[in-house]
Parts: sequence; C-alpha cells; structure tokens
Amino acid sequence: MSVDRQFAELYGYAPEGVWAAPGRVNLIGEYTDFNDGFVMPLALPHRAVAAVARRTDGVLRVHSADMDQGVVELAVADLVPGSGSGWAAYPAGVVWALREAGHPVTGADVQIASTVPTGAGLSSSAALEVVTALALDELYGLGLEPAQLAVLAQRAENAFVGVPCGVMDQMASACCTEGHALFLDTRDLTLRQVPFDLASHGLRLLVVDTRVKHALGDGAYAQRRAGCEAGARALGVRALREVPYVQLSDALARLNDGTIRRYVRHVVSDNHRVERTIALLDAGDLRGVGPVLTEGHASLRDDLQVSCRELDLVVSVANAAGALGARMTGGGFGGSAVVLVEEEAADLVTKEVKAAFAAAGHTEPRVFPAVPSGGARRVR
Ligand code: ADP
Ligand code: MG
Repeated sequence: MSVDRQFAELYGYAPEGVWAAPGRVNLIGEYTDFNDGFVMPLALPHRAVAAVARRTDGVLRVHSADMDQGVVELAVADLVPGSGSGWAAYPAGVVWALREAGHPVTGADVQIASTVPTGAGLSSSAALEVVTALALDELYGLGLEPAQLAVLAQRAENAFVGVPCGVMDQMASACCTEGHALFLDTRDLTLRQVPFDLASHGLRLLVVDTRVKHALGDGAYAQRRAGCEAGARALGVRALREVPYVQLSDALARLNDGTIRRYVRHVVSDNHRVERTIALLDAGDLRGVGPVLTEGHASLRDDLQVSCRELDLVVSVANAAGALGARMTGGGFGGSAVVLVEEEAADLVTKEVKAAFAAAGHTEPRVFPAVPSGGARRVR
C-alpha cells in the first residue's frame, strides 16, 4: 500500500503531500567529518518516504509502517532534548530543532515508510530526519535551503536524540544529485557535485551489508572523537583538517601518545584520499579509485581500529576475487562495505563474499549496487 493510502487509513483523511529522502553510502572520507574534513557520499535509491499534513493544535503524531509500535502522540510545546524515546525521537527532534530555530511549526500528522536498512551504516536515521524536515519546510513555507535542513536535522540527532554524529549523513540525504558523488567540505559546507557515472564506465559499486548491527551510541565513536580532538590540541590546530598531508610525518613526530598518533594519521591521510579520489574522478579514471578505497580500509582497520572481522572479510575476499578495491563505509564495527568492481565481475565477487561468510558461519550479507541517486524531494 502506498504511504498516502496508509496515512489516510491511519488518520482518516488525506495527507497534504508526500516527500522522500534517501539513505547514503560514503565512498571515501571516514571519521573526517568531526575533524572539519572532507567526505564524499552518494545517495542510494533506498529512501524514507513520508506522507504529512499540518496540524494547528500543537499535536505531533508520528507512525512508521516499519515499526511495531502504534501512533506516537506528542505535544510540540513539551519537546525537550532527551524527552523523546525510541524511533519517534528522530522526527520529534526535527520539529524541536525547527521550533528552536524560530520556525512556527504547530504540529503535524506523519506516516513514514522506508526502504533504507536500519543500523546498516546507510543512514536510515538521516533519511528519516531529512524527509521530516523537508516536508515541514514546504508545508509551513519556511523557505529553507537543503543545507539548512541538513544542519537542523543534524542538530535534532545530536541534541535531541543524543547521537554525536557529524553532518555528512544529513547533507548527503538533502543535497546529493543523480549520477554524482557529493564532495563536501564539512568545515563550511562548501559542496561540489562530482560526476560518478559508474554504468558508462562499465563499473559497479556494490554495497555489502554485513548484517552486523553497529551502535554509534556506544563509547568507541566518542573515544575516537575525543582522541582526534586531543590530537588537534596537541598540534595547536582548531581541527585536524588543518594539518596538511605533506606535513603529516612532522606532525606525527610531535605526538607522543601512540593511540592519538594513529588517529591523526588516519584522519589526515583519509582527507588526502578524498582529494585524490576527486582528482581521479575529474580525470575520468574511475578504476583508479579502487586502490584508494582499499588503502582507506587498511587505515580504518589498523590506525583507527573501527573495523570488524566481517568487514575485513568482505574487503579481502572481494579483492581476491578481482574487485578493483573495497573498504568499510560509515561508522564501522559492523554495518556495510563498498566494493568497486567491473560490471562483469560483480556476480563472481558477490558469490565469493557470500561463500566466505557461509564458511565462516556469519549471517548471509545483503549485497546490492549503489546507484548514485538524487537527494530529498517532494514526490506527490
Ligand atoms: P543508521 O542511520 O546507520 O541506519 P542509526 O542507528 O543511526 O543507524 O539509526 C537507526 C534508527 O533510526 C532506528 O533504530 C530507528 O530508531 C530510526 N529509523 C530508521 N528508519 C526508520 C523507519 N523506517 N521507521 C522508524 N524509525 C526508523
Ligand atoms: Mg544514523
């Protein structure tokens, strides 16, 4: 059943419109966004769809076709950080963030249905936030730009839900365009759409969802973040993005904590890998990106230590089966990997990865091609 039909059955009247916002995979530039660095995500065809109508009585009702929970009803005036629990905190957080920013949102009825796998590192949470933000922006005539919606959505996740994520996921969901990867400078949100036409080069980017649930809320992410901040302080810079790659070995020599040294090496080198990837894509050398991905994986595995057995297995098996390169993507500790392959090698690589998972006793991974898709928009 379409999401507007679901809305009508649930609330007893027709929605005012239907909006969609995609999940994303990050091609390169990981754990760089909270260091004011560079990232390069692309939007997936998988998306959160929301049918929405305004309310003028201060009531917010949200329902998700993907959750067992019934309708969650909240008073918008009572929304305060930490007051939301469960999945409803994401859309409620967006309403809170909009009102905090002075926008007169007086309530809404919302029905959600999403095809973005949750907890797979593909940003189902950002899709949910951005679709809510866009719907309310249009219904309330707020006139906000996609990047402004992304920043408000990030604020909802950071301050209201309590997840210390960077701004990449929301920017990708709000701003990506079809056939492109999004180069984003997370310091000032400068962005550039970089052509990434895999099909015309006979290539495919596979997403391999390991089915191992990641949990960014736990201490490991916060610990990496704190380590990077300590590294920046020790080097006398505001953020690690200010350390030029050519000065990396000098910088490392000035750090005496081994853990912080590894974190700094990852961030500065991954930032550089984003720049190398852009240069390769601009030169039309899409195949050249493969080894950069694999290098990035080694850095995440060995220096930042945020990979896991299953992700390492995807990368080693895919590369052994003829992939051009592969790496974990997103926060790590599970979630997904991306694999760049020749179109004709895609089936074999998929088969080999699944066989290796079966042999190791892991749950069968979900594998699908990442077709660079468009960002959030109104659909009806
Ligand atoms: P990721 O963003 O990588 O998928 P997160 O842990 O950041 O993982 O976000 C997942 C959470 O987002 C879910 O636990 C749920 O609370 C919420 N969520 C995502 N998709 C939906 C959906 N379709 N319906 C309701 N809640 C959702
Ligand atoms: Mg998320």
